[in-house]
Parts: sequence; C-alpha cells; structure tokens
Amino acid sequence: MSRRGLLLIAVGGLLCAAVAFALFQISKARCFSLVGEAICRVETDERIVALTFDDGPTREGVAAATAALREAGARATFFLIGGELEGRSSLVRQLLAEGHEIGNHSYSHERMIFRLPSFHEDELMRTDALLLAAGVPSPNLFRPPYGKKLIGLPNALARHDYRMIMWDVEDPHGATTPRAYADGILRRARPGSIILMHIMYRHNRVARDALPLVVQGLRNRGYRIVTVGELLRRRG
Ligand SMILES: [Zn+2]
Repeated sequence: MSRRGLLLIAVGGLLCAAVAFALFQISKARCFSLVGEAICRVETDERIVALTFDDGPTREGVAAATAALREAGARATFFLIGGELEGRSSLVRQLLAEGHEIGNHSYSHERMIFRLPSFHEDELMRTDALLLAAGVPSPNLFRPPYGKKLIGLPNALARHDYRMIMWDVEDPHGATTPRAYADGILRRARPGSIILMHIMYRHNRVARDALPLVVQGLRNRGYRIVTVGELLRRRG
C-alpha cells in the first residue's frame, strides 16, 4: 500500500475514534441531550430537592424507603424497571398510597443507545402499560438506565410526551458507611437538586441504611423533599 493510502487509513481511524469518544461523552452527559432536554436539576432559590430511587421495585427496598420518608413526611420519585414490576404491582400501589411518584426506568434496564427505534418504543411502552395497569396516573417521567441516551431514546420519549429525568447528585463512590454515604450526598445537594440513590437490592445496603441520615440531614439544612413532578412545577 502507498504511503498516502496508509496516511488516509490512519487519519480515518483517528477521526472515527474521536467521534466515538465524543458520542460516548455526550451519551452519558447529565444535563445535555443531542435531542430534546435532559433535566438534571431545576433553577430555584427555594430550599427544595427531589429524592429519586432507581431500579426494582423490591419488597425490602420499598419498605425501607417508605419507612424513612413517612417519618419525615417526605415524598419521593421511584423509577421502576418494567421487568421487575411484573407480579409486583402491590408495591406500586403501596408507593402511590403513601403519596410517592412513579417513573419509568425501561423494561429490561439495557443501555438505550445504538438500538433500533422499535427497541426504544418497546422498552418505554411495555413499562408504561405496566405502570398504568398498576394504577399510576399518566406516567410521564423517564430515567435512562445508566443515564445513557443519544437520539433514538429522546425521540421515543418526545413521541409519548415523556420527560427525561437525569440527576445532579448521586450515590457517592466508595462510601463504605451510612454516615460517609449521607455526608457525600449532603455536601453536594443544593436548591433544586435531583438526587439519585440506589437502595433496592441487597448490595445497596450502605445506601439503604444511609437513607434516614440523608432525609434527616436534608431537613436539618432546611430542605423540603419533594417529587420530581413538584420540582418541575417550579420551573414556571
Ligand atoms: Zn437503573
């Protein structure tokens, strides 16, 4: 092969790598989406934050969350996985009865990038149907699994009047005690924050045990804990 041919291949390879890297960064950006809007927080001076819980539902996770939130009179938003919802609609009814909000977190919890439009449609609407059947009134909040999205997912969400909810505060990495976990959340929460916690599974023990500390810490700092829906209503 000529030197020119080799050079073209090298430049082409570099360009492809650069594009792939840029798409990877964009796909996981918290507050930016190529299409539509990725909502990661709300601009407000009011001391309110939204607490959100991803995955499940599991009996243990729902029990821990409702106990901690009930104690504080707080309402939160739960993004549930359709596949885990099958046969567990009583957990949804329990969350609704306590005033919590339910969002859609896909059916399979697979990354929703580089897929056919039919995949996004199916993931969104299968879980939508399950939520409706469980009594969720007009579900319209979606959280992408792993926070991943590019074009197909936002398009599917727009078609069905869903809003894409990301976050600006999440489970602190490497926190091995409930106190350290709670402090990691409390340090970063600010007015209008959307806080993401994972408490549904056995391996989420630290976060689950930290939840009462997070709720208490937020209240001590003068924050009111609201649902994502209520936070969005502050956007005017
Ligand atoms: Zn998830």
